[in-house]
Amino acid sequence: MIEDKLRTPGAVRDAERWTAHNYHPLPVVISSAEGAWLTDVDGRRYLDCLAGYSALNFGHRHPELIRAAHEQLDRLTLTSRAFIHDQFADFCRELAQLCGKDLVLPMNTGAEAVETGIKVARKWGYQVKGVAPGQANIVVAEGNFHGRTTTIVSFSTDEDARADFGPYTPGFTVVPYGDLDALTAAIDENTVAVLLEPIQGEQGVVVPPEGYLPGVRRVCTERNVLFIADEIQSGLGRTGATFACEHEGVVPDMYLLGKALGGGIVPVSAVAADAAVLGVLKPGQHGSTFGGNPLACAVATEVVRLLATGEFQRRSAELGARLHAGLQALVGKGLLAVRGRGLWAGLDIDPALMSGREACERLMERGVLAKDTHGSTIRLAPPLVITEEEIDHAVAQLAAVLAG
Ligand SMILES: *Cc1c(COP(=O)(O)O)cnc(C)c1O
Repeated sequence: MIEDKLRTPGAVRDAERWTAHNYHPLPVVISSAEGAWLTDVDGRRYLDCLAGYSALNFGHRHPELIRAAHEQLDRLTLTSRAFIHDQFADFCRELAQLCGKDLVLPMNTGAEAVETGIKVARKWGYQVKGVAPGQANIVVAEGNFHGRTTTIVSFSTDEDARADFGPYTPGFTVVPYGDLDALTAAIDENTVAVLLEPIQGEQGVVVPPEGYLPGVRRVCTERNVLFIADEIQSGLGRTGATFACEHEGVVPDMYLLGKALGGGIVPVSAVAADAAVLGVLKPGQHGSTFGGNPLACAVATEVVRLLATGEFQRRSAELGARLHAGLQALVGKGLLAVRGRGLWAGLDIDPALMSGREACERLMERGVLAKDTHGSTIRLAPPLVITEEEIDHAVAQLAAVLAG
């Protein structure tokens, strides 16, 4: 095909013309997808190694999820929470049981789940712990990513995410990630919660030192502080377990879930916690017009059922071992380091070779889509339906890119 017959360049230009430039996407225009594969407007196929930042853990258009969505579209899509609909109880019960918690509070985006967690923790602090009015603080980690609202960016340590969006919401203390002594020292009598990602995805799939999460759990219990685990990216099968906290045998007081919960079809997020915590909310104190809508519940219930089989967690663990073995073999051959768990990897490319962006552009030319995060770091998070052969293919393409 000669270059000027391709639809992609014009489609890329059009997309840039009509949108705020709050993203810097790869110059590829996708028009359809199935499983782990994407097809662009020119008919070229790509292996998806990002999976919508883990929103597509079950792959594109998983048949069970699409069936649930179609069936629900034909019956009922929205009631608002002013009325109860027939998909609501199943979703809340099955998700609560998956989490081992009493209650669930559904929202839409991940950032809303985080905001919900912050609000619940503060109210719990005042009403249950007895913190003096207006004094609650929450301990968070350097390098965190919890979303984009004004309160959440207030405690981001990423200048791009934070600068010029002030005045900032007070009440957060930032400590180095993985440093239990620093976290312990930051907790005072007004601390209501510790909010952490059990693995920092956006930061480059940073796994904390062994023993850190159990240590956080212990300190939180001793000091009567809620441990809030943001499992929006790490949860729901991504790391080879339902929750990343499980790898260290840790149960947080509150799970924040999102991304894959919507099956890559609709935005669905949720907070799961016991009644002693979520029970502090009373009618009128929190809510969302679309949160817990019938379409979202129908899809997310099917997501919970897929997870309840354990198949996806098992795939992630087994295929993840293969992915990591393949990537480790490239350390010293263009990669400086590889981190991660299950089908989730952060790769540091030797910056002398190329930037993360450049590597992703070259991977794209070879039919593999991944996304750089900071500088020379790339994150790989393929759908959990990816096969052994496809993993080997992705690793081979990366090896070829690194070899120049
Ligand atoms: C993506 C993400 C969020 C925010 O989710 P949105 O749906 O984009 O608002 C929060 N926390 C973590 C760990 C995430 O990866």
